[in-house]
Amino acid sequence: MRTENLIVGLGIAGINLCHQLQRQGRPFVVIDPCPAQTSSIIAGGIYNPVGIKRKVKSWKVDALFPILVDTYRELETLLNVSFLHHDFPILKPVSSEQELTEWQTAIDEGRLSPYAEKLVMGRPAGPFNVNVLGSVTIRNGGFVETDVLIKAYREYLRHIGSLLENRFDHFVLEDRGNTMVYGDVVADRVIFCEGRHISENPFFSWLPMRPTKGQMLSVKVAPQLAPDHIYNQQFFMFPCREKNIFRLGATYEWHDLNEDPTVAAREELVSRVGKALDVNMEVIGQQAAIRPNVADRRPLVGRHPENPNIVLFNGMGSKGVMLAPYFARQLVNHIYAGGEIEPEADLRRFIHRYERDEVKA
Ligand SMILES: Cc1cc2nc3c(=O)[nH]c(=O)nc-3n(C[C@H](O)[C@H](O)[C@H](O)COP(=O)(O)OP(=O)(O)OC[C@H]3O[C@@H](n4cnc5c(N)ncnc54)[C@H](O)[C@@H]3O)c2cc1C
Repeated sequence: MRTENLIVGLGIAGINLCHQLQRQGRPFVVIDPCPAQTSSIIAGGIYNPVGIKRKVKSWKVDALFPILVDTYRELETLLNVSFLHHDFPILKPVSSEQELTEWQTAIDEGRLSPYAEKLVMGRPAGPFNVNVLGSVTIRNGGFVETDVLIKAYREYLRHIGSLLENRFDHFVLEDRGNTMVYGDVVADRVIFCEGRHISENPFFSWLPMRPTKGQMLSVKVAPQLAPDHIYNQQFFMFPCREKNIFRLGATYEWHDLNEDPTVAAREELVSRVGKALDVNMEVIGQQAAIRPNVADRRPLVGRHPENPNIVLFNGMGSKGVMLAPYFARQLVNHIYAGGEIEPEADLRRFIHRYERDEVKA
């Protein structure tokens, strides 16, 4: 099989890359064993234009969002399914005088415009805790039902014969100068989108990954909680398609990087909700996965320092939904038109680590 691009990994990163290649009419084949659970499948899928803790706009949000919305809409059309909930309001309850002041200042200084324009004093309507003194509603964010997207995209690739459902073995890859050969596949290049499994990739072992485990719950909530917001206060909680069911996340854990759900995480998430909402909740499901975070919390995009036919698209951390459309477009433009990868996302920012490891070897 001859192709221009062999893509390894079909999570949020891989799908976005495939889509940008397809928009440019560039052929690709994907290899992924298609497990039932990955970081992309269990993700909340939320894209929030405001950094809640620091009360600033999210990194590059004004540039990322238009491409994000176009991309997921195009994918909805291509796949004939709906999974994008755009402009779904994010309600942030505010529970201390100090926080009220901080939000008011951020809004007055126009730092959050056009995403958050107003602090509303008083407890919002609904089952909010007496601690809640006010609220901010963030506009223009939303969420992607990533499990729906991934399932539909896998099916689509099966249908067009572009999906190899296997695990890629890095030691079988042959570099024949102008082409890369993997079993029956002959490609111009290989693009790795393996998420946290980058740790098994010998070409990029020099990059400073800081994977984090995250856990999510599915909860059944009493009907008085309206399914018309993403609730966000040291947790996010948003409605599922089934009545009175919400997804609740997410923890950040740096140790025990396995994919086993834990009682401690379940209790922590339930207790965080209790600080903002007075609702009865029954936990009906729990999932865990590992996010591909990078030490400096920016994506890792670009070609291998010595072999331009080995390419990386990874490091989406906790914001894959938001970052992947923009940087996939940038990478495709880099490969085919020599466009620049912006320095903050370019993997070459860590070239000193590669050179140091090379010298040692
Ligand atoms: C609990 C939790 C909640 C989250 N919530 C959000 C959220 O609300 N919003 C958001 O934007 N992000 C969220 N994230 C983060 C998001 O999940 C990641 O940013 C994103 O999934 C990363 O996508 P990826 O494609 O790089 O990796 P992955 O999803 O891990 O996909 C990698 C793919 O590569 C394949 N693969 C790996 N190795 C090989 C190999 N050797 N051969 C073939 N295939 C291979 C895997 O099978 C997998 O399909 C959350 C994560 C967690 C854990």
